[in-house]
Amino acid sequence: MSMQNKIVTQGPIVTRFAPSPSGYLHLGHAYSAWFAERIAKEAEGKFLLRIENIDNNRCRPEYEEAILTDLTWLGLKWEKPIRRQSDHMAEYAFELAKLKDMGLIYPCFCTRKEIRREVERINAAPHEDIKDKRGPIYPGTCRIINLDALEHKISLGHPYALRLNMKKAVRLALQKRKNLCWIDQDAGLQSATPEIFGDVVLARKDEPTSYHLSVVIDDAAQRVNFITRGEDLRDVTHIHCLLQALLDFESPNYRFHRVLVDKAGKRFAKRNKSTTLKKLREDGKTLAEIRKMIGLL
Ligand code: GLU
Repeated sequence: MSMQNKIVTQGPIVTRFAPSPSGYLHLGHAYSAWFAERIAKEAEGKFLLRIENIDNNRCRPEYEEAILTDLTWLGLKWEKPIRRQSDHMAEYAFELAKLKDMGLIYPCFCTRKEIRREVERINAAPHEDIKDKRGPIYPGTCRIINLDALEHKISLGHPYALRLNMKKAVRLALQKRKNLCWIDQDAGLQSATPEIFGDVVLARKDEPTSYHLSVVIDDAAQRVNFITRGEDLRDVTHIHCLLQALLDFESPNYRFHRVLVDKAGKRFAKRNKSTTLKKLREDGKTLAEIRKMIGLL
């Protein structure tokens, strides 16, 4: 995992590990956390920890406590203070208001079912190669809703999410920056094509923010200049790169690591209790054994 020769970021490297306390960490998380810490260590930079707990329905304090216990057990040391997303809702609202002022945000009342139905109706197959894991690309139903209907729905208390008008956003971002791109330390300069995601949700119906919005704001606020995450999250960089341009944040560099799989070739999951770090620790596994299990020895 030596990567010193690849670092091109100016100034000290700042990496982070950003788990969600929605379950116990597993072996895949151990790999990811060690990966980020190692990059910071080799470059004599900083390693930060962030608790991504915007999802009120799934995040629980006992999981957050377990994250700290697990990471300490793994021998990781992070800078203080730990950033907890739930402490920063006002910052997300502030940045979202900027995007609203740019005319890039619109309310969306659609349910997932309605979106699927509409996609089928207009016979626009969901984008197959890069799709938002939560469903097909949004067909834009609420983007063209007239103002009266919109106000009526809001006055009736219909729940709504806030979506980014993607085409308009890209146009504006390209006025701010000549090119939308980021540096992948392994693959080189990458062009961002966030259009492939369509009008993404930036504030959910149940939360006044979203993963994309929060993560971009957090990384800028924490001055993270080197983002490491699993390959499964590579594609969201297209969206993040766009948001960084719109909000005038510098784009960090990126490195994507392999996603660990179990013996059956399946990705580790929080719901599989047998591979949680908590269980392995309680079973008396040593750190050397953990490192071996994830291919670091
Ligand atoms: N919180 C996200 C997760 O647990 C990862 C954060 C990120 O790297 O964007 O999968």
